[in-house]
Amino acid sequence: MNQSYLSLGLIGYPVEHSYSAILHNTAIKELDLKGEYKLYSIKQLPEGESELLHILKEMRIGKLAGLNVTIPHKRNVMAYLDEITEIAEEIGAVNTIYCNGNRLIGDNTDAVGFLRDLNNYIRIDKTMETYNYQEYYALIIGAGGAARAISYILAKAGWSMIIAARRIEQAKMLKTHLCKTLPKSNIAIIQLNNSLISELKKTPSLIVNATPVGMWPNIQQTPWPEEIMLPQNCFVYDLVYNPEETKLMMQASKQGIPNTNGIGMLIEQAALSFKLWTGFDPSRIEMRKSIQEFLARDNEISI
Ligand code: NAP
Repeated sequence: MNQSYLSLGLIGYPVEHSYSAILHNTAIKELDLKGEYKLYSIKQLPEGESELLHILKEMRIGKLAGLNVTIPHKRNVMAYLDEITEIAEEIGAVNTIYCNGNRLIGDNTDAVGFLRDLNNYIRIDKTMETYNYQEYYALIIGAGGAARAISYILAKAGWSMIIAARRIEQAKMLKTHLCKTLPKSNIAIIQLNNSLISELKKTPSLIVNATPVGMWPNIQQTPWPEEIMLPQNCFVYDLVYNPEETKLMMQASKQGIPNTNGIGMLIEQAALSFKLWTGFDPSRIEMRKSIQEFLARDNEISI
């Protein structure tokens, strides 16, 4: 790493609406480092291949200390790296690239970021005695990139799962991948529609929204049918973080069901990436403050 100036960034397309720069630039400032986290818009391959190769070369020669990776490169970037960590290999996606000498290592901090934040609310690991829910059974809504990381880490912690997706084929592919990677996984899949609840054979202890449904500006939308009550003894985790209180969270609160948005996971995965790049553990409190200030300003402007 160039000690004098820390160059970090995010590659993806589109990247303009990402909050990663806010979080990482806050960490850089808070730790009194010199540097900047920039957004690099790189189109889907093959169109963006030369730009992708260029930025990875910059990293190899030390001009960049670290990169985050988002849609559409989380999977295809793996072929261009020198090593993939076990967790990234098993999830099948990379969200963080760091250097070891001039070797590029692909890692994934999404899954552990989710796990760490969830542990602030409920104990998810069977080895933890303080676990206070009846069963290790989760309902994951959505089967995209985030669902992939979350279902992996939950399956690894011994949870059974139902994955509900609007494209059943996507859920099938995720199930196949999980069962191959973690053969002891107990996964069922269902089509996401209003008969959702009737297809649930038992009550989940955890419901995760891993779709963008309810995200600003579509804040009246919810992945859970409004006419159906949520199961009473569960925890609701909405990965959406803008708005801070989503419609799904309101449905849960109305029933007295504990819930959270995705800001905690966003912060944790960013902090884990930052530590891989710099060795420093940034303040979660400062990161959260920066996001909340940004959301307050952004929503004021948008009204
Ligand atoms: P993704 O790879 O594009 O997957 C999105 C999933 O949601 C797909 O299964 C997609 O199905 C489904 N979906 C999209 N629109 C839907 C709709 N109207 N009704 C039902 N299903 C729908 O995206 P992702 O990376 O997994 O992200 C999903 C959400 O999580 C986003 O809101 C993202 O901002 C959030 N997220 C948060 C964090 C965090 O740290 N808090 C981290 C990652 C992601 P189709 O393929 O059929 O469209």
